[in-house]
Parts: sequence; structure tokens; C-alpha cells
Amino acid sequence: MTTEHASATRGPVAVSLGATVTASGATILPSTGAPASRTATRPESDAPRAGGLQDRFGRVATDLRVSVIDKCNLRCTYCMPADGMPWLPQTQLMSAEEIRRIVRVAVHSLGAEELRITGGEPLVRKDLEHIIAAIRADNPDLPISMTTNAVGLDARAQALKDAGLTRLNVSLDTLHPETFAELTRRPHLDKVLAGLEAARAAGLGPIKINAVLLRGVNDTEIVSLVDWAVTHGFEMRFIEDMPLDGDRSWTEGAVIPARDIRAEIETAFSLAPDPRGRGAAPAERWEVRRPGETAVAGHVGIISSVTEPFCAACTRTRVTADGRIRSCLFSHEETDLLTALRDGADDEGLAQIWRDAMWAKPRAHGSDRVGLARADFVQPQRTMSAIGG
Ligand code: SAM
Ligand code: SF4
Repeated sequence: MTTEHASATRGPVAVSLGATVTASGATILPSTGAPASRTATRPESDAPRAGGLQDRFGRVATDLRVSVIDKCNLRCTYCMPADGMPWLPQTQLMSAEEIRRIVRVAVHSLGAEELRITGGEPLVRKDLEHIIAAIRADNPDLPISMTTNAVGLDARAQALKDAGLTRLNVSLDTLHPETFAELTRRPHLDKVLAGLEAARAAGLGPIKINAVLLRGVNDTEIVSLVDWAVTHGFEMRFIEDMPLDGDRSWTEGAVIPARDIRAEIETAFSLAPDPRGRGAAPAERWEVRRPGETAVAGHVGIISSVTEPFCAACTRTRVTADGRIRSCLFSHEETDLLTALRDGADDEGLAQIWRDAMWAKPRAHGSDRVGLARADFVQPQRTMSAIGG
């Protein structure tokens, strides 16, 4: 997408607040997080009536991401606006029991194989340990990971481990306190580093570090972040900046492409493709070696959603903090699972609503046409924090 075109598609998007009711009884809503003002009926879906979460393009979703809250204690510029973010009312948030039920349906009826807890910032939820313990009680072998900014983690890492959390992805874009304060609009780098230390001590490993690179802000830190991560035994992952920001100021020109990230790392380390391959993982993984050494010093992952999209291999299904299924990060519609649950749907009813929603998953980036560079790409209304990254 050109910068000129990007701005043409970034203003307020006209989305009808109409809802559609499916044959399985679910409500499909435009992805604004707002309630619908009118409804229509959708014909019966030709989604499978049993089994897992298949879509029209032969993909099967087994990787469940559940957002437990939309609020956050940071305001990263690539994710949220500085202020004025409307929060979900408490009554619209899934309770711990509702999250537990939804995960149980995903695992026991739909074949979900792993769970990632996300937000907003999951640590903002005071009952997070309780949520994880409840999920763990139902699913003794389920890998449960969490994506967090780690602010406040120092006081909770051990309790989260004891509750059944398996491992962590921690977001950290810079090692400089001033850059951290500029990028997250909060002066909390020391809290993140304390959280990481506590997580390691609690045995919440392996820990992956997520960094979004922004031109002119932290793009000079690629090598120092890799060096720091390798030294501390963390896996460094760089994420291309995606058009999911609250300020709606994303431009394609500001994205640091994966090939440039690789080239920059190779000024200081040698990279070789990870022989374990990538599978359906979003990150392309590389072995990192220090100059002149044959031993692998660590690993780096690069998530190139913009310049080298991996939608054809996507295995993800998402549930927002208000219990709506998003089949794709960039979807323009969502299926309301929580209302069906509150209205008394049984497990098979909920599973069928989910199958129907995933059957309609778009081919790539919210559309059956491919790519964020499409001339008709439109940024979703919800920001990354409100979707659950
Ligand atoms: N608050 C937690 C955190 O920051 O780790 C979890 C939620 S956050 C939305 C999940 C991930 O999305 C983070 O790794 C963050 O860096 C990433 N993210 C947020 N906005 C993004 C954007 N516009 N492009 C790419 N990644 C983004
Ligand atoms: Fe909060 Fe995570 Fe978004 Fe940063 S990326 S504002 S920490 S939700």
C-alpha cells in the first residue's frame, strides 16, 4: 500500500451497525465492539457439522488466543492512542467461569491444542491466577502461554506458574529508558526487567521477547536487543508493525521489512534457518551464532505479517475480551459467542457457532483477496489491544 493510499483508507470507516443471525443462532457483528442496532438472518452455513475448526481454504485452527481484558497499563504508540480509548463495560467482559467454559469447548469439542492468554494487558485482571487455575483444572496437558508487557509481573510470576501457566511472551521494544517512555508513554522499563527476572526465577520458560520495530524510534537497537536476549537466554522476536494502531497513523513506509531486520542482525551475528522449521508458527526462526563460533548462541524469530505474509498456513482462532470470535486479526466482522453462552447454549451449540465463524475466515488480512498492500485494504475498527494480539 502506498502512503497516499494508506491515508485514503484510514479515516473513519463507514460500517453498518446491522447484525446478522446465523442458522446456528449466533449473531455476527461488525467489528466495532458496539452492540447492533438491527438484525437480519443469514442462510445456513455449509461449514462441517462436526470436528474441528476448518475453513474454506483447507486450514484448521488449533491455536486459540483468548483476550481476557481490553484495558492496559501502557499506551504503546503502535497499539493504543495516548488517551480517549473507550473501555468495555464490566458486564460485557467475560467472567473467569465464562472464559473457562469457552476454552473447554475449544479444547474438548473443537480440537484446540494450545492456548495463549492475551489482552489488553492480562496482568490488569486481578483474577488472572484464578482464570488460569480454572482452565488448568479442565485441561491438565494444555500448553498455556501468555503475552504480557510484564509490568507488575515481579509480584505475580510465581503465583501464575503455580496456577498452571506454562510460558511467556514478553513485549519489550527497547533497552533505553527514554525510548521506552516515548514508545509506551509510561516510564516503566525497570518494572518490565524486574518482571522478566521474576518470571525466569519462577521457571516460566522458555521466554520469548516481542519487539515491534519503528523507523527512527528503536530500529537502531536490532543488534543490541539480539545480543541482550541471547546473553540472557531469551528468544528475541521482531514483529513488523501492522495497521492495527489506535492513532490510525500506520504507513507502509514506516515498516522495517523482515529482510532488512535479517540483514541488520547479520552485521553482528551469523543466521541459519532453524532446522526445526516453522510449521504454522507466525515467526520464521533462525539460529544465531556469534562471529567465529560454531555453537548456536540462541534463536531469533521474525514475524513478517506485512512484507512476507503467512496467512495460508494460519492456524489461529481468536476470542475477544467480550467473547466475540475473530477468525482473522484483520476481520471486519465478529461472531458473538458470549451472548449465546449467556442465553444457555449447550457445548455443541457453542461449538457449531464457532465452526460456522471459522468456516467464513477470510483468505488473508480480512479479505478473500490477498495482502495488506491491496488497494482496497481497510484497517479494522478495533485496535490490536481491543482484539487481543
Ligand atoms: N499487553 C500485552 C503485550 O503487549 O504483550 C499483550 C497484548 S499486545 C496487543 C500483544 C502483542 O501485540 C504485543 O507483542 C505487541 O507488541 C503486539 N502489537 C500491538 N500492536 C501491534 C501492531 N500495530 N503491529 C504489530 N504488533 C503489535
Ligand atoms: Fe498495552 Fe500490549 Fe498494546 Fe502495549 S502492545 S499498549 S502493552 S496492549
